[in-house]
Amino acid sequence: MRRILVAGNWKMHGSLSMTVGLIAGIAERIEVDQDKTLGYDVLVCPPSPYLAAAKSVIDSIDSKHCFSLGAQNVNAHESGAFTGEIALPMLQELGCRYVLLGHSERRELFGETDAQIAEKFAACTQSETDVLPGLCVGETLAQRQSGDTEEVVGRQIDAVLDLVGIGGFAQAVVAYEPVWAIGTGETATPDQAQQVHAFIRTKLAELDIGIAEDLQILYGGSVKPDNAGDLFAQPDIDGGLIGGASLDA
Ligand code: PEP
Repeated sequence: MRRILVAGNWKMHGSLSMTVGLIAGIAERIEVDQDKTLGYDVLVCPPSPYLAAAKSVIDSIDSKHCFSLGAQNVNAHESGAFTGEIALPMLQELGCRYVLLGHSERRELFGETDAQIAEKFAACTQSETDVLPGLCVGETLAQRQSGDTEEVVGRQIDAVLDLVGIGGFAQAVVAYEPVWAIGTGETATPDQAQQVHAFIRTKLAELDIGIAEDLQILYGGSVKPDNAGDLFAQPDIDGGLIGGASLDA
């Protein structure tokens, strides 16, 4: 049974005090059932300079173990002369459980290719750290309009499969994020999103049914309080990767 994962990608927003306050605000609002467990998991991905502070506030308030911490990017090398970059062992030391890979802003604004993203994914699966990859995939508006959504998403996933095989997805999360819905206020309908999620799961199930069935596939793209319920109710949508709306507890 897959659990719902609600993940906030805070991008390059905020400040130290906002990061700490946002985590505390979310902690106040999450609903814990009578058994003192939460029916879903929460992941926060603050800007990297605030990871350590985020970890320490999580440790101090998260007595029910509802939160995990994630980074927004990583370098594929374990260490070395890569000015400005961050390595997986560093994320591990900071308490990160996840790292986002291949967010569309990384692909578009920083020119990250399918192959580079696959190398980062492989670094996660091959490293001795426990940091799990959160692979983002999705098509542009032009690609959707020309009927190429599955081809594009399939190619983004194949790049990873070619490097790590289906086994790499046993310890990973995938986020389907149509580029045209990110930060635009335009959301894929639950049916549109479900179709692509089902395509991803079926594609992976052809290689390993168990891994595909267990894989959490999140939807991202203008998720808000008023559309999250319908999206997350779809059979192959296991939560959300949320940008703008996640900046409000
Ligand atoms: C994102 O950046 O991953 C995202 C989905 O952003 P937004 O929710 O603002 O569309």
